[in-house]
Amino acid sequence: MAGARVLEDRVEGWDDLSLARRSEVLGTLRLFLEWCPTCDGAVNVERAVVECCCRRYVVVAATCEECTDRVLEVGSESSLY
Ligand SMILES: [Zn+2]
Repeated sequence: MAGARVLEDRVEGWDDLSLARRSEVLGTLRLFLEWCPTCDGAVNVERAVVECCCRRYVVVAATCEECTDRVLEVGSESSLY
C-alpha cells in the first residue's frame, strides 16, 4: 500500500502506532495525504504526542505548507497499543 509506505517515511513514530490506529489513520488520510484540497500545496504529515493532565493523546496532523490549513487531525486518547 503506497500510502502506508509514505506514512512510514514521513510520520515519526509511525511504527509505534497500533495496527488498528494505522488502518484508521490511513483510511482517513488517504485522500488528503499528498496535496492540499484547498490550494494544491504540499501537505506535511506529522505525529505528535500531547500530554494533558493525566492523559496522553496521540495526534496525527496533516498541515498544508502553502496555506497552513490544518487539512486533517486524527487524535486519540490512548495507549499507543
Ligand atoms: Zn493549502
